[in-house]
This record gives sequence, C-alpha cells and structure tokens, in this order.
Amino acid sequence: MGLRRNRLTMTRDRARKMATRAAANGSYARAARIAKDTPNILTEDAHRRMLGAFGAAGWPTASDGFPEGGQWDGYPGPLWSILTRPDQEIWDADPDDGDQVDLTIVPEFTFIAPRISLNSGEAMVHRVPATTSPTDLVTEVSAALAQAREREIAKLTDHAACTICGDHYPARHLLAPTAKDELTVCPACVFDGDLLARAHPTRLAFEIDRLIDEDLAIPAGWSAVAALLASAGGEAFAAHLNEAGAMYVPAEHWSDPSLLWIWLPPNSRPAALASLGPGASLKAVVEAVERAHPDLRERFRATLAEDLEEDPDADHEDYLVETLWPAVIAYVVTLGTQSQERPGHRPPWHVLSDSFEPGTLADHFAELGSGLDGRSLHVTFTLEVGVRTVAEALGWTTGF
Ligand SMILES: [Zn+2]
Repeated sequence: MGLRRNRLTMTRDRARKMATRAAANGSYARAARIAKDTPNILTEDAHRRMLGAFGAAGWPTASDGFPEGGQWDGYPGPLWSILTRPDQEIWDADPDDGDQVDLTIVPEFTFIAPRISLNSGEAMVHRVPATTSPTDLVTEVSAALAQAREREIAKLTDHAACTICGDHYPARHLLAPTAKDELTVCPACVFDGDLLARAHPTRLAFEIDRLIDEDLAIPAGWSAVAALLASAGGEAFAAHLNEAGAMYVPAEHWSDPSLLWIWLPPNSRPAALASLGPGASLKAVVEAVERAHPDLRERFRATLAEDLEEDPDADHEDYLVETLWPAVIAYVVTLGTQSQERPGHRPPWHVLSDSFEPGTLADHFAELGSGLDGRSLHVTFTLEVGVRTVAEALGWTTGF
C-alpha cells in the first residue's frame, strides 16, 4: 500500500486537523467516559479487527500495515479510515506507546468518503469509538455510506449527454475511451463500434480511478468497464499502467479485478445479493451469485455452445467463460444498480444492443497488451450471452 499512500498524503494534514477538531468538540469527553469501564485498547488491535470485519462482510480492504504520524490509515471499500487517540498530540509517536500516550483514552475511527476529497469536499465523515463491536461497526458505517451515496446522487444534475447513446449524465461522469477528448461516453458505450478513434484504455483507467477516489456518486457501471479491461489485460496492462506516468499510481484492482468495489442495488435486491452491504468486492459478488445459482456458469457455457452452433458436448471448449465471467457479473450487477439509482433515465441495458463491438474490443485489447483476440466472436458472444443469462437469473428484464 506504499504507493497508494502517496496519493493520499496531501489530505493527511487536513485529516489530522479534523481529528483534533473532533476532540475539541467532545469526543474526548465521550472517550474518557467509555474508558472508565474498559481496559486499555491498542490501536493496532482495533485497526486489524476493523479491517477483518469489513473483509468478512465482503469488502476489499487495504492498509499501510503500520501507524504513521500517530494514526492508522486503512482503505475499506471506497472509504478512508483513520484511527487515532483523540486529544493526543502524538504525530511522531506510536499511538500504542504507553510512555508517550495515555492508553486509557479510547481510540476513535473516522471514516471518510470519498477517499480523496480535496476537489469535491467530504461527502461523509463518520466517527465511531474503537470500543464498538466489529459487527456493529460494519453495520453502522455501511448505513452511513449508503446514505451518503444516496445524498450525493440526489444532488446530481445531468447536463451532458453520452456521445453514442445520448443518455444524460453529469459531464464529469462521462469519460473518453479513445484518443479523442471530446468523445465522452457512458459506461455502457465504451466498446461501441461507432467510436472510430484509437482506443486509449490507459487514460480511461486513470479517469476511472480518479472517479472512484474522488466521487462518491460515480455511476456504478464504471466498475464493470474496469473489470473487463483488467480481466482482458491481466498483468501486462497493470505493468503498462505502472509505467504510464509519474503522477499516476494505478490502483491494485488493475492487477487483481476481484478487488474492484461493486456498488450494489440500493432497494429491491435479487436474493443472491441480499446479504451484502451497500457494495462489495467483485470477488464477494461473484461468490454470492454462484452460491445462489450454482448451475449458472454451466448453463451460460451451454447456451454459448448452442448459440455458436458448436458441439455442446465438447466440454473442453470454454468460450472464455472463465476469463470473462467476473466481468459479466460486474456488468449485470452494476447496470442493475444504475437502473435503480437513476430512476428518471432509461435503464442501461442497451449495452446489449451491439455495444460490445468486436473491432472496438480488439483495439482496446491490443492497447492493453491482452492475449485475448477481441475480433474473435467468442468475446462479444460471451459478454452478450453472459449478461443476458445472468440478468435473467437475477430476475431483471433487459428488453434485449
Ligand atoms: Zn452511452
């Protein structure tokens, strides 16, 4: 996590000031009250328990693994967590060093979203004493995060239109997938055949990371685009991104798409996703779908064999199902989320109306250094049949 730390360093001083402010506003008194009846709490234990609890709830988590400037930083899902001892000026000390710190003061978590708020301001700042049980902490912070996202989405004004499909979005939520800056599109249209300029997945990856880090109202579908690019590109794309520019440090989900954060439908949910919070890692989402529909992947493969008019008994043929399955699930779940979160708009299932164009996919894959042949019908068919099959299993009607 050393690399990501650099991206966040600029916001550190601000967070420290915030923690000090919190202490001045009465957190200390609350912490002191709690401390009377509780044994000393080590910040290292509390930090580890917090990350473990979010991990158990299906969130991707990351951490520096050591305290810096008197605080522990963590990254559960789209949040930045800071653990400090309120009212303790220990910027250079270990927050668990009893010689320099009053260990009877109960440490306090501050959860902040978006993770980088310099440009956008904080959409959520939520404080929880470290004495809170890990289960309660996840429940409480999940609810705060869901409410913060709902508030941010309610504030959006959709003044811009996708170059390809014409659907309206805020201008900052439309990104340019090619070398032409002015051709900005919605998540459903990234691989459309009408985008004739040279594919530019490196820039697109950077823009997606920027939205993930800075914008709590990001359209859910950008995680699906990231899942497809990362699944197709593999280590070659991750290495390419690492060399892309001195100022840009790519997120870990480019080398491991299972770590991608997936925003889940806020309201009526398919049973398969009912046990998860406001979002989860792509890994947890895939596992949840497979648990609820154990035969789905095999049905998907059989449907593909039938559509491609090949021998359905030739079970050695995979049709890229293994490679693209997580991306397929990411598309279905996030477009289902977008359908709910943008009720005044048409649902984005028009991704199934020729938006996975073999030539455009091939251009992106070539730029990614992918071993996949985008021109092979398998890629397009696997994505389209996959999205239809999984959407149907989750009870959603795509209309395509
Ligand atoms: Zn579009």
